[in-house]
Amino acid sequence: MKYCLRCLQPNSRPGTVFIEGVCPACEFKFTSTKWDWQNRKRILKHVVHTRKAVGHESGHDSVLGVSGGKDSTRLALFARDALGLNPLLVAVTYPPEQMTIAGSRNLNNLNNLGFDVYQTSPSPTTWKLLMRAAFLESANWAKSTELALFSGVPQIAIENGLELVLWGENPGLQLGALETLGKEGWDGNSLRNMNTLAGMNEQWLLGQNIDESHIGPYLFPSKSEFEKHNLQVVFLGWAMGNWGLLENGLMSGLVGLQGRRDSATNTSDLIYLTSLDEDWVILNQMIKYYKYGFGRATDYVNEWIRTGRITRSEGIPLVQKFDGVCADRYIESFSSFIGITTREFWLTVRKFSNANLFDLSGHGRPKPLFNVGQL
Ligand SMILES: [Zn+2]
Repeated sequence: MKYCLRCLQPNSRPGTVFIEGVCPACEFKFTSTKWDWQNRKRILKHVVHTRKAVGHESGHDSVLGVSGGKDSTRLALFARDALGLNPLLVAVTYPPEQMTIAGSRNLNNLNNLGFDVYQTSPSPTTWKLLMRAAFLESANWAKSTELALFSGVPQIAIENGLELVLWGENPGLQLGALETLGKEGWDGNSLRNMNTLAGMNEQWLLGQNIDESHIGPYLFPSKSEFEKHNLQVVFLGWAMGNWGLLENGLMSGLVGLQGRRDSATNTSDLIYLTSLDEDWVILNQMIKYYKYGFGRATDYVNEWIRTGRITRSEGIPLVQKFDGVCADRYIESFSSFIGITTREFWLTVRKFSNANLFDLSGHGRPKPLFNVGQL
């Protein structure tokens, strides 16, 4: 495992290629300082006003997928206040066992900020079955649920006769997922090519022994459906110069976002503001750490290094302390929800952990064999 010369990103992140020792995200950050963000905003404004619905009976002119968290709160305000749009916010919500109180309050907060929020919840029975199958197959339960979170937004756009679909980050530019790049930086119509959507297809869903009539919420509209309904996905993050974990958190906090109550030593959420609508993401980040040698703390710390808030060497002890942290209670509640024991949970996690990066002997949690940040 090699680390980026500038930050603490290891080259074990899937799809990452370092150029002259530097990771794509550092390269992106460096290049982006030279861009004319005001001009991008002008271009984006022109694009969305060309594609928005005019005179729609609901008064809405676009849709925006939201979870109620820091990113979606900021996007909703940007779409309305900076771009002059009136988006219908679409939230695909979790079953009651998974949804947090903060998640539910934060959706209400969007209502209070003056937005119409359309909530849709796929059947919890199917949700649970698919989540269990995805976890046992790959130790990543979110593989199935992300399908629903991504697919619900264009589906509701089609259902409501709205063509403009607003999205946040451009994963191609911001995370180095090149398969999602469109014809322009703001163009999100290649989103269907991203790992989450391309890797889990209809065949997989049908192979899970569930009623065919229940897989609808997990199907991202096809290319021909996009063309038929003239859908255009637009990445708003493309024109937001200070898009970031901390900036989004601070700005959303100012308008009522409620943060996570549990300590970072139980959650590895260093700013108490990430993925607030549910808590099992904490164990998913821990598993990512055992698979690839980096977790959620790395993502925060890297952003702080890139924006000059801390130095690379100041970041090392933070990553050492917080990456892979997850309190037992989250593992217990998740295991109970999908109907496995915590022993089965750990057996599955160990099966998918990287034996070159972690000592997997014994019964405790895997121990890292690498030194964070060592060049
Ligand atoms: Zn880097």
